[in-house]
Amino acid sequence: MQMTRRGFLSAGAALAAATSAKGAAAKGGKRFYKGQFHTHTFWSDGGAFPEQAVQFYRETGYNFLGISDHNVYAEGRRIRKVGNGRGQINTSIFDDYRRKFPGSVETETDADGNLGVVLQPYSKMRELFEKPGEFLLLDAVEATTRVFNADGVENQVHMNYLNVPGVPKYVTECGTDSPVDRRIGETRLAVEALAKELGRETMFILNHPIWCWYDVKPEDLVANPEIRFFELCNGGSPFAPGKGLPADGFATDRFWDVVNAFRARRGQPLLYGVGNDDTHAYFGVVGHVPGIHCLPYNAWSLVRAEELTAEALIRAMNAGDFAVCEGVQPDDFAFDAGRGELSVSVAGKKNLCRTIQFIVTKRDFSEKPVETVSIEAPEVPENKRKVYARTINIYDTAKIGCIVKSVSGGIGEAVSASYRLAPDDLYVRARILSPERPAVSAYQHPKIQVAWTQPYLAAASSTARQ
Ligand SMILES: [Zn+2]
Ligand SMILES: [Zn+2]
Repeated sequence: MQMTRRGFLSAGAALAAATSAKGAAAKGGKRFYKGQFHTHTFWSDGGAFPEQAVQFYRETGYNFLGISDHNVYAEGRRIRKVGNGRGQINTSIFDDYRRKFPGSVETETDADGNLGVVLQPYSKMRELFEKPGEFLLLDAVEATTRVFNADGVENQVHMNYLNVPGVPKYVTECGTDSPVDRRIGETRLAVEALAKELGRETMFILNHPIWCWYDVKPEDLVANPEIRFFELCNGGSPFAPGKGLPADGFATDRFWDVVNAFRARRGQPLLYGVGNDDTHAYFGVVGHVPGIHCLPYNAWSLVRAEELTAEALIRAMNAGDFAVCEGVQPDDFAFDAGRGELSVSVAGKKNLCRTIQFIVTKRDFSEKPVETVSIEAPEVPENKRKVYARTINIYDTAKIGCIVKSVSGGIGEAVSASYRLAPDDLYVRARILSPERPAVSAYQHPKIQVAWTQPYLAAASSTARQ
């Protein structure tokens, strides 16, 4: 990707236009689009009708949304029971639906007098909500699989894919035998085969690697260099392992740098992060359980694209031309590949000091873990998800993912900063910190608002020098 300083300046205007006036165009034909693509509805275990879910996002300035239910693409006819029993659609949510979407409501009553409601398909959501240039629905599915390892440990491996209206057989028939790294690779191949069959471009994302605590390790993504995206930010699942467990090597920022250290050294494309809500709780409950996370509006991707189409968004994200936002948004960011320089700016906010940090990995990092930690299985009440003993590797924090520059603004001031790659840097990325509460306050979720740029590699000629 080649982004010039001129691009850096004009895109700033693009963001201002995008947030202040719907559909406003920017110089150079590109503008920022805001969206997220990890959302659940009553088509699986989410707590809302698809109409309600889409409305939550469309009415609050999102430009794109993917409803990604577990192993199901929302089409055909599905009926859910309404009532206050387990597994039923809560009557108060049904009442809200009836009030707001009378044209959608289709009900039927079974022989025992139980009320059922028909879930409307994705095609219907498109009719109701899409608006060219302003709001786009992306086809999405969360491939949801489990692995039972020979040593008895269970892993959850969840992967989102975009722009493919269907579920490959592999996803529902893969069983539980493949180890995590193979499961990821096999699912990607199955999704790509289906995408090819349907003539679609797709994008494949490894979701919430740390849920439940150590499910996917950095080594699993080092073994799968074709995986280009992972969920850096997921509103429903931990950013780092649970209480009392080693987080040093496993907060998602650290996880990301470990994978990219190996990839950069091997000349492979870097892993990019995305931001998603994994929305389940729209009305404060998931099923009949109070929802404290998995809420809307926590995290999103801000994509600089030529137009609001699935193809243009995927192309821009493949080029790394997007940021991940968890509350705060960059005003602008650009990587000048010729100079090896990353520039970032953020607007000021009343009473706050904002900071821009630059993070690099050094060429001489060691691939050998500095420590291998064995974790005993913690005690978990019978009615809670079982947590298993694990072994994890901790890598060189002095050379992998080091903060090399930090620039803070004064109170209420905008901040702009840039960093030029040094000869011993493999790549650079940046992070904006804003000391204000994020939408979600789950354990290990950042306590402040954060935005991240993607990592950008040093030029190929210098990468060869190791
Ligand atoms: Zn998941
Ligand atoms: Zn999910």
